Amino acid sequence: MAIGTLYIISAPSGAGKTSLITELLTSVEGLEVSVSHTTRDMREGEVDGKHYHFVTADEFELGITDGLFLEHANVFGNYYGTSRASIYQRLEAGVDVILEIDWQGAQQIRQLEPSVRSIFILPPSVEELEKRLQKRNQDSDEVISRRVAQAKEDVTHFVDYDHVIINDDFDIALDNLRSVFKSQRTNLDKVQLRNPAFFSALLNQT
Ligand code: 5GP
Repeated sequence: MAIGTLYIISAPSGAGKTSLITELLTSVEGLEVSVSHTTRDMREGEVDGKHYHFVTADEFELGITDGLFLEHANVFGNYYGTSRASIYQRLEAGVDVILEIDWQGAQQIRQLEPSVRSIFILPPSVEELEKRLQKRNQDSDEVISRRVAQAKEDVTHFVDYDHVIINDDFDIALDNLRSVFKSQRTNLDKVQLRNPAFFSALLNQT
C-alpha cells in the first residue's frame, strides 16, 4: 500500500468542480492534482503542462498502444487520459493525488485501484445547472443544449461514488470537500505507514 491516497473527483460541467479544487489546494497540504493528457484544443488562459498536456490524436493513440495511460476516455469527442508514470511515484512519496476525471475514467480506476476514494460534485438542481451552462457559454444554442443533455447524463453516475457534495453554497461545499480529505488522513493503515518509527516504539514498549 502506498503512503499517499488516490482520489477521483468527477462532476458535470457547470457544477463548480474546478473552483472548489483550486480552493481546496490552497488549504490542504500534501495534495496534488494529476495533469491529464488531452487532444482537445487549448482554451484561453490554459497552459500546456499545467492544465493539461495537449497532444495530437496520433500522439494520444500511440500512448494508448504503449500503455502510457492508467485510464483514458473519449469525452465530448476528444481523448482524455491519466498517465501512469507520475501517479505511483507521487503516492509512494506520501503525496495525496487527485484525478479530476469523468465517470468513464473513474470506472476504470476503481477496477485497478479498489482503495481509491471517489467524490462526485453535484449542482443544487437541474435548473441551476442549465442556468450555469447558459451563462458561462458563448456558444450557440445548439452547443449549449448538447452540453446540458450531456451534463444531465453525467449526473446519473453519482451513485457509484463514495462521497457526494452538493455545490449550492460554495463555502459549505468547500468545507465538506476538505473534510473528506482530512478525515482520510486519520485512516489507521495510512497513519501507520506515515509514522513507522513511532508505532514500532509504541508497540515494543514494556
Ligand atoms: P474539460 O475539457 O472541460 O477540461 O474536461 C471535460 C471532461 O473531461 C471533464 O469531465 C473532466 O473531468 C474530464 N477529464 C479531464 N481529464 C481527464 C482524464 O484524464 N481522464 C478522463 N477519463 N476524463 C478526464
